[in-house]
Amino acid sequence: MSEPAVLKIISGVGAKGPACFLLEAQGKRLMLDLGYGPQTGQWPDVDAVGRIDALVLSHSHQDHIGGLSLLPRIGNPPIFATEITAKKLPPGTKTHPLPINGRGDVLGIPVDTGRNGHAPGGIWLRFHGGTGLLYTGDYSTESALYAYDPPPKSRTLLFDSSYGDDDTPLAARQAALAPHLADHVLLPAPADGRGPDIALHLARAGRTVCLDDATRAALRDLTGPARDYARPGIEAELTQLAEQALPPSEKPGAIVATSADGSAGTTAQLIAQWEHAPLPAIVFTGFIPTGSPAARLVQSGRAKFLRWSVHPRLSDTIALVRGTGAATAIPAFCDRKFLPALQAALKPANVTMDAVVTLV
Ligand SMILES: [Zn+2]
Repeated sequence: MSEPAVLKIISGVGAKGPACFLLEAQGKRLMLDLGYGPQTGQWPDVDAVGRIDALVLSHSHQDHIGGLSLLPRIGNPPIFATEITAKKLPPGTKTHPLPINGRGDVLGIPVDTGRNGHAPGGIWLRFHGGTGLLYTGDYSTESALYAYDPPPKSRTLLFDSSYGDDDTPLAARQAALAPHLADHVLLPAPADGRGPDIALHLARAGRTVCLDDATRAALRDLTGPARDYARPGIEAELTQLAEQALPPSEKPGAIVATSADGSAGTTAQLIAQWEHAPLPAIVFTGFIPTGSPAARLVQSGRAKFLRWSVHPRLSDTIALVRGTGAATAIPAFCDRKFLPALQAALKPANVTMDAVVTLV
């Protein structure tokens, strides 16, 4: 009889940190994501991992792929990723393809995939080794822009719990944001995530939308090479937004631009101009790294922080556990302090943050 499949947590459970997990199944060792951050200097510790057989990537955000410089320490394994995620990797990185929504194969282990509603190129992965493991990567059910495919049955779940037991819907986040959206406002956001989603929301609300080149290009991609990651029926709206949005300027408008923390790109330039001026308003909507311009401006009172959700609510988590029929659920990307609340909410599933979980 073959060894049972085992999931080992390298990094990403018990605290917000880089995603890095090890699935040992059918005699193969698969690493799931190899991230860096989101705080500066947060590397997964791979020194004790040894050689692995393949690296499988969920999506292209830094806290999931930013650790690729560590590959020589784990034997330079082949990398599996969707075509759109592969394009975001460092130039020259060779990859093997994963489907957007269907059956793939990693070194003989079948894997089902579906869109994660969180980023272009982003997928969840359901491995068939042992009794099955669903790794959601990051996911969201609420985006008006990114399509989400409900995952199939799976006995064990390794799931995005970035917001712990928070159950605030995106609509409530949007309502809270509305009064702070002055006529002239800067909204720093990632182009490969919530940036285009926020832009679409603003356009639908009748706002004058201004986009930097990176966000405009991401919107164009979502009607071109990455169109399969957008929800159906919105292509004309996205095209109109990409073509008609103004460039960022001194004139009134809601500006969506990169980078999300103000450390680079258009927002770094605009913040240099506007940090010591009273206007325009500046609102950050996502994770704020310590020591970043975003942290400095929120601390000084020059900018506000109001979250735009890109991860699941507690009610999404409950629906995921019920829908997959999972017996064991491992919350990722949140602090250990949420474990008791998640255990209570997800009964009768066994909710654990243990470093090693046997897939039975
Ligand atoms: Zn992400």
